[in-house]
Parts: sequence; C-alpha cells; structure tokens
Amino acid sequence: MELDKPIRYLKGVGEKRAEAFAKKGIHTVRDILYFFPRSYEDRSKIKPISECIDGETVCIAATVYRLPADKYIKRNMLITSMTVYDDSGMINLVWYNNKYVKNNFAENEKYVFFGKVGKNKQGRLQMTAPVYEKYGNERYTGKIIPIYPLSSGLSQKVLQSVMELAINDMGKLEEYLPQTVREKYKIAELNFSMRNIHFPRDFESYNIARERFVFEELLILQLALSLRRGKNKTNAGQVFSDLKCIREFTDSLPFDLTNAQKRTINEICRDCRSGIQMNRLVQGDVGSGKTAVAAAAIYMAVKNGVQAAMMAPTEILAQQHMDSLSFMFESFGINVILLTGSMKAKEKRDALAKIADGAADVVIGTHAIIQENVEFNKLGFVVADEQHRFGVEQRAKLQAKGHFPHMLIMSATPIPRTLALILYGDLEISVIDELPPGRKPVKTYSVTANMRERVYNFIADNIRKGMQAYVVCPLVAETENSDLKNSEELAEKLATAYPDIKVGLMHGKMKAKDKDQVMTEFSAGTIQLLVATTVIEVGVNVPNANIMAIENAERFGLSQLHQLRGRVGRGGDQAHCILITDSDNEITKKRMETMCISNDGFYISEQDLKLRGPGDFFGTRQHGLPEMKIANLFEDRNILKLSQQAAKDITEAGLKNYPLLKKKCDELISDEIVMN
Ligand code: ADP
Ligand code: MG
Repeated sequence: MELDKPIRYLKGVGEKRAEAFAKKGIHTVRDILYFFPRSYEDRSKIKPISECIDGETVCIAATVYRLPADKYIKRNMLITSMTVYDDSGMINLVWYNNKYVKNNFAENEKYVFFGKVGKNKQGRLQMTAPVYEKYGNERYTGKIIPIYPLSSGLSQKVLQSVMELAINDMGKLEEYLPQTVREKYKIAELNFSMRNIHFPRDFESYNIARERFVFEELLILQLALSLRRGKNKTNAGQVFSDLKCIREFTDSLPFDLTNAQKRTINEICRDCRSGIQMNRLVQGDVGSGKTAVAAAAIYMAVKNGVQAAMMAPTEILAQQHMDSLSFMFESFGINVILLTGSMKAKEKRDALAKIADGAADVVIGTHAIIQENVEFNKLGFVVADEQHRFGVEQRAKLQAKGHFPHMLIMSATPIPRTLALILYGDLEISVIDELPPGRKPVKTYSVTANMRERVYNFIADNIRKGMQAYVVCPLVAETENSDLKNSEELAEKLATAYPDIKVGLMHGKMKAKDKDQVMTEFSAGTIQLLVATTVIEVGVNVPNANIMAIENAERFGLSQLHQLRGRVGRGGDQAHCILITDSDNEITKKRMETMCISNDGFYISEQDLKLRGPGDFFGTRQHGLPEMKIANLFEDRNILKLSQQAAKDITEAGLKNYPLLKKKCDELISDEIVMN
C-alpha cells in the first residue's frame, strides 16, 4: 500500500476521525504506523481463577453461574455483580454505574474477562469492571494489547482497530536501515518490528521491535545533525595568529583561573587558529566562571583585529555583562558598548553608528543585536550566553552578522556527555567541570506552606545581619485564580510584615528601565529582599544574596530550580535555598528530594531525564530538536551508544551510499521543528 495515502482511505476512518487524528499530527498511513503505543496490557495468558491474587490485572475464561444483578447502594451509585466459575473456582465480577452491562451475558455461556482483582469488604476476591468478550473468537483478549496516547475524539478501541487495519493493509515495507548495519548491531528488520511494536506476539518480540525503533530514531537524528555539522565544518574561519596575548588579560584578573577554565580557553584558541570556523559549546554549571572564559576569548579576538559580539537572553543579564566586561577591559583600551531593545532612539542610533564604523570593539546586547538594522564593520567573534534560551535560528542569525565569525555558545545546563553529543551534535563541546575554590554548597530544604512564616522570619533575621535574599514566584497567568503566589501581592505583604526591610519587586511585565533600576538597587544593597519571577533565572550575580525561597516550587522543572538556586552561594557566606510546596505529587517529591541532596548540575539533569517521560524529554524542542517518538535518552543510553557507533560507521562509508536512509535524514532536517 502507498504509505503516503491519507488515513481517510482506511476503513472506519471517516472525516471526523480523520480530523481527530490530524490534531495528533497524523495525516497519512505512514504517520499512523509510526504512532507508537504508550504501553501494553498483557491479556495473552488465561489464568485459573484459583491462582488470581489481590492487586493483579489478569485474564480469566469463565462461565456465567448467576446472571448480573443490579443494586443501588446510594441513589446515584449502581452496582452490578455477577458470579462466574472455571474448573478451579469461582469469583465475583462487579461494575459500577453501568446500566447496560447486565444485558450482555447469558447463563452457562463462557466468556473471557480481563480486569483488576481486588478484595471486597468481606475480604473475598473480586474483579472490578473487567473488559469482556465471548470465548472462542477473541479480538480484545488472548494477546498483548497496545495502549495508545489518547486525544479527544479517539477512544482506545478506535485507535486499536484503525491500527490493526493499517498493519494488515501495509503490505511489504521497504527497509531503509542498511543490512550491514542491522547485522553488525543485531537490529531487527522493519516489517517484523512494525507488526510487533503494535501487536507484539510476545514480550520478547516487543523488546526486539522497540529496540529497532529506538536505534533507528537515534541513528537518524545523529546522522541528520552531522549533515548539518558537515556544513559548518567546511566553512573557512579567520585565523587568529596572536594567541599569546590572552595571557595579558588573564593575568589581570583578580583570581587564578581554574584548570577547567584554562583547558577551555586552550580549546578555543586551538579552534581560532585552525582556519575552520569555530562552533563551540561551553558547558559549565552555574557559577563555574563562564564569563571570564568568554571575556578572555573576546579579548583575544579583539587583539586579532576583529569586532566581537555577545548576546544574552535578558536585558538584566546584558547590562550585567556590560558592567563586568567594561570593567575588565577598561585598562586595555577596548571599547565596549551596549545594545538593547529598550534604549532610547538617539542612544541606539549612536550605538549603531559605532558598530558600523568599527569604533565599538565589543558589542553586548540582547536580541537587539540580531535585528536587521545592525551592521557590523568586521564582526569576527560571537558569543551566545545561556544558549538554552536561544534557538538554532537565532544562533544562525547572530553568526550571519559577520563573515563566518567564530562562535562560542555558553550553557549552564549541564547534561551527560553522551546526551550532549546528541543535543549539540553540530557543536564541539568544552566542559567546565570544576567550580572556583572555596564555594560552599547551598543548603537546600523542602518545606510545606504552613512553614512559610518561619521561613520569612529566618530570611528577615538574616537580612538584619546585613545579607540579602530572593523570593521567587511562578509566573501567574491572569486566568488562573488558584492560590499560586503572585509576586506583586507577596511583595506588598512582605513589605507590610517587615517594615524595617526594604522589599523590591521584579517581574517580566515591567519596563526594562524599571527592571534595571531594581537590579541596580539590589546590587547596591538598597533593596534587601527581592521578590521576583524567573526573570532572575539566568546569570544574575549578586554575591551578597545568600538565601532564596521559592514559592510553589512544584511549578518549576529540576533544571530550572537548579538555575534559580545558582543565584545564591556566590559569596563566601553559607547560602540557603528553601523550596516551598504543598504538592503531594510523587514526581514533585522526588524532584524536591533531588534538589535537597545535590548541588551537582550533572547529577540533577540526569535525574531530570529520569523523572520525565520520553515525550517530555528535557526540552528537546527547546534545543531545536524534534520530540522523541520512542527513545528515552536516559533509559536507552546503551542503544544510544550503539547508534552513535553506527552513525560513525555510516558517515565514514558515506551516507550518500544509503539513499533510503539519507532520505529519512533529509526529511528530518527539512522538518520545521528541527530548525526550531
Ligand atoms: P557562570 O558560569 O554561572 O556564568 P560567572 O561567570 O558569573 O559564572 O562567575 C561566577 C562568579 O565567579 C563571578 O563572580 C566570577 O568573578 C567568579 N569567578 C570566575 N572564575 C573564578 C575563578 N577562577 N576563581 C574565583 N572566582 C571566579
Ligand atoms: Mg553566566
């Protein structure tokens, strides 16, 4: 069958269902085949009634002993119960509020039932709300049944039966994984895998099928990314011949660089004299000193006769980089200017002129830098700070401002190296895996809301001793009328409760100028307690702030919590982070626990991967990658390794020799999602 055929041509898919499928991004027969189950129910084995145990979900084949009887236990609570038996024993079946179920059985007839067994009030076993069908010609029992992710308008039964049609009609699929690769890595063939991922013959077949699709997904992703990298690799880059000059700069810093910082600077230098354009990601946990590394590289670039630009995701951060870099470069006669969206028209014109005529050596700014009206004189080096806030496209735009400038990308989201290779497959990677000496881990606690007053008293006492603190609130949409802490209200309450403490407020809706003002006052210590939303998540550096309380902590992802916490513990004093949440959710509890026991960004991001489902993997989309359909980058790391090896084999042999596979990769690259 033609796989590109719209699913409307499958029997049982009318216009309405086709629309429901379209909402899930399923348009063609191919789409539906690659819509994989989320889980399975093992209805393959029939158990004797006497062997059923409490809590188990099982299939039994049993004969009706007594027809169903209805009983109302409350006015609106109907219980229907029926007794059935097999050779080994008897069991009671019950349904709740199902008026029609009693019409579906006949005395002395045999049926298959699938459901959960539990104990009733008398302690006897019963099966609750089982699925059932006539014995002898089973469609929904007697096998392993796929369970699909649901969407409105599509029931599990509809999905299962449409899928069955698609599988039966698919004909012979053309294999696109090279035979040599399949043999070397013991990867199952496509037709077998497709059948068994949807309707597994047994769990062994399922595992084999799943492994194939995981392998395939990761392989194609990596090949697609290396196609992209291939393009970067061939770009000629400017050669910076004077690398030694960097010592003048690093010697001027008030501290010794850590070994990890030195190593990273060396890697950057090597790239910059190689003659090939640099695309390097620097990964380092919060506070690992990425700014100093970027500054050293910028210094070197400027001394080699080009302009440099540094882009930050927020105005606060851009301003902060502006302050620290102009301070660091002051004695070297390097001219640093700022360019942000909120600048006055005249200031902006002035800045643009300096950028265009080359008077500005270094430009620091926000997205304003990549606007069309910005023209550089000779841009040769670009830095994107906190890259998880930028898409692939924005990076590309920044780079397009110069003539193949070297690019340094900095990220505070540490992830395991194997994953980094996938996520940033088109980049070289440096890791700053060492914090400057003398840092004390932030003590972290998770508390419930009834402790709030004590938390704020603790913060107030600390402030009276001369320290500062942050309180972080989640963003509250205007439509939400829950008891989420709203930053404005909370700031007012705290100001009233602690009249001797100067409370400030900062949130995303404020004008850039006002945010600046607040930030300046907080840095200067005139604001002692800053209530803020996640606008302070990235980069902000106020060493005198040593406590952070996070309201509704369940609202934040693990990596985000870690980023936020990174705002404290930047001075020599013991820092504290207090997570306030009333959530009972198991995953939330695990997240909080992870934060309390670890300050290590790599560990935390690994836990983050573990606690998220495959679809929701660690912001893949944020990183400009497609959502994973089946692979779980944490659990499938062994297959990931195999697929990395295979990707290397194929690249060495030349992807063009495998046209079917290449087509899959091209499709993935051209997909809009990939380009973010
Ligand atoms: P991040 O990697 O999170 O961007 P920053 O670059 O803001 O971290 O650095 C955090 C703090 O550590 C800054 O105050 C910076 O001056 C300081 N710092 C950076 N490198 C060192 C070092 N080698 N020794 C001591 N302090 C350092
Ligand atoms: Mg930083």
